[in-house]
Amino acid sequence: MRVIAVKTHLLDHVLETAFESASMSFARRQHCLVEVICDDGTVGWGECLGPARANARVVETYAQWLVGQDPLETEKLWLALYNRLRDQGQRGLTMTALSGIDIALWDIKGKHFGVPVSTLLGGRFRGSVRAYATGSFRREGVDRISDVASEVARYRDEGFHAVKIKIGFDVEEDLQVIEAVREAIGPDMRLMIDANHGYDYLEAIEVGKRAAAFGIDWFEEPVLPEQIGTYEAVRAGQPIPVASGENWHGRYAMNEPLARRAIDIVQPDICGVGGFSEIRRVADLAAMHGVRLVPHVWGTAVCLAASLQFMAALPPNPPRRTPLEPIMEFDRTENPFRQAVVKTPLEHQEGRVVIPEAPGLGIEIDREALVEYALKENT
Ligand SMILES: [Mg+2]
Repeated sequence: MRVIAVKTHLLDHVLETAFESASMSFARRQHCLVEVICDDGTVGWGECLGPARANARVVETYAQWLVGQDPLETEKLWLALYNRLRDQGQRGLTMTALSGIDIALWDIKGKHFGVPVSTLLGGRFRGSVRAYATGSFRREGVDRISDVASEVARYRDEGFHAVKIKIGFDVEEDLQVIEAVREAIGPDMRLMIDANHGYDYLEAIEVGKRAAAFGIDWFEEPVLPEQIGTYEAVRAGQPIPVASGENWHGRYAMNEPLARRAIDIVQPDICGVGGFSEIRRVADLAAMHGVRLVPHVWGTAVCLAASLQFMAALPPNPPRRTPLEPIMEFDRTENPFRQAVVKTPLEHQEGRVVIPEAPGLGIEIDREALVEYALKENT
């Protein structure tokens, strides 16, 4: 069995209403899917976190070294491709592109052996996961506080048990938003706050101390991802558990914050951290250092499916009789191709998502959707 071609599929949608986090504005949704084709007709799918065109260029660069290889040799291929660009790229696009390829190779391996990837990873600890809703970005031209409050109330009505909102814009306004959200969702729904590294140290401490009164599960990316020492200080200086990891790619980037215990919760994204091959190692590192793992998820149903397979096989830590269940991030922002790219959407029911049992990632790609949402060359 050999790889005969690697293709990228760039998807694009112009948003009806642009939105922004503290660090990024979104006027359109763009994602890069990876298709790896084998000589026996088997096809595997993956996805890359981050800018679609840039990821595609790096995937195309890797492709020259992948064609002709045995796709089942996932570990050998991961290392071979990583070594090719190691000197220029231990983090960032080289890792996000490699993630998309690695996920596609595991999809192929699952299909070849007729089992879901979770079986290849060692077996399932669970057949479904609870999901939390991610949304509440800032939108132009609306009153942010009432806009976010009505949005989170919808998630509660949909059956979600937990919601994550965006902060990191302005300390006083952010605290007003948090208060309004807690009032809108009531006392029982879990609430997380995500600053997308928008604060400096002093702002993060201020928000953490004052937001704690509203019952916050975790404080995500309070400060810049490069500043591991600042994470330690934020963790020590305010009472809310600190989470981060979506912008740390590869085990080497993850190692320092985990070993220093600069965070309470680590959030690797399977489409950015290095695919199945690497996220397993990050899970081991996190378990060794006693840090809870909650994956970051931001993409299409390909990314969702890969995350679900990983979560199925994530060992409970600690392995007590009624184990702590991992929770799944569920992006609720506007993205019509998120579920359209697969024939059976991976939707939630009352805040819970069933993990597919079909071979590989357990999904079937809808090629008509890939055409419908294809990024036009000159846009
Ligand atoms: Mg985040």
